Amino acid sequence: MSEKKLYSPKVIKEIIDEYGFAFSKSLGQNFLIDKNIIDKICDGAEIKESDQIIEIGPGIGTLTQELCKRARKVVAIEIDKNLYPILNNNLSSYDNFYLVEGDVLKIDLNALISDYFDDDGEIKVVANLPYYITTPIIMKLLEEKIRISKIVVMVQKEVALRMTAKPGSKDYGALSIAVRYYSNPRIIVNVPKNVFMPRPNVDSSVIMLDIYEKPIVEVKDEKLLFKIIKAAFSKRRKTLVNALSLGALGIAKEDIISILNECNIDVKTRAENLSLDEFAKITNTILSK
Ligand code: SAM
Repeated sequence: MSEKKLYSPKVIKEIIDEYGFAFSKSLGQNFLIDKNIIDKICDGAEIKESDQIIEIGPGIGTLTQELCKRARKVVAIEIDKNLYPILNNNLSSYDNFYLVEGDVLKIDLNALISDYFDDDGEIKVVANLPYYITTPIIMKLLEEKIRISKIVVMVQKEVALRMTAKPGSKDYGALSIAVRYYSNPRIIVNVPKNVFMPRPNVDSSVIMLDIYEKPIVEVKDEKLLFKIIKAAFSKRRKTLVNALSLGALGIAKEDIISILNECNIDVKTRAENLSLDEFAKITNTILSK
């Protein structure tokens, strides 16, 4: 029997009728209905036969099907129990498919990797993410320093622009710097609303994060680096001196001025003009006091 074309709206409607499934808006369920985009995601991830894949939110298994064809193993994490019988049926012909039932934000990903994956080869995260938790998922994947080489995911276009923004641009912020600390980000393709069912309210982009083996800048205290970045951007309109000497860091204004001078950073500049390197310099200078 030929395989179901899970990206076909007609097939999705049949599945909805057969299982009495209803889309959940609150779980960010917008399923892909365009084979071309599925191929672009998989091509972008440069999936090899030896790759092991974590998929977040497989839905009815549309992207999963293609991942199972290309990769050694696919472990898909899905929160919606109404989708479990659908996924198990739709993917029953693949012995390299594993369903993990649960909330990606609560799962111990290091344990998942050691439970399911072999030690050799690359591990990649490939997904059409639920948009209500895009940033927490990306930050969890990066901060937990799990053994992954690439993240290739569909996100809201606006979040993709923030993740890839350079200093001085309006989209540049704490998220841009955090992503750049751990990875080299780029947008693979922008995606219109009509490739999803139901259509989302926002435009989308597929982004690729190439994960560094170790962070690109060296800081002696990562927590302090992110505390400084957060403090600087929480007062985006203020000069860096004022943003950093107002509370969170507990450092007096005159000390911040002398630290910035030592780093050759203009005291009147704003957070949005500072590179990751400069934030790292500030962190290490504070620590050297
Ligand atoms: N991959 C499918 C596709 O492209 O057609 C579905 C993508 S849909 C945008 C997002 C999926 O993530 C849904 O299946 C949803 O149930 C699931 N999801 C939502 N929140 C989740 C969570 N916290 N953990 C795991 N999966 C989640």
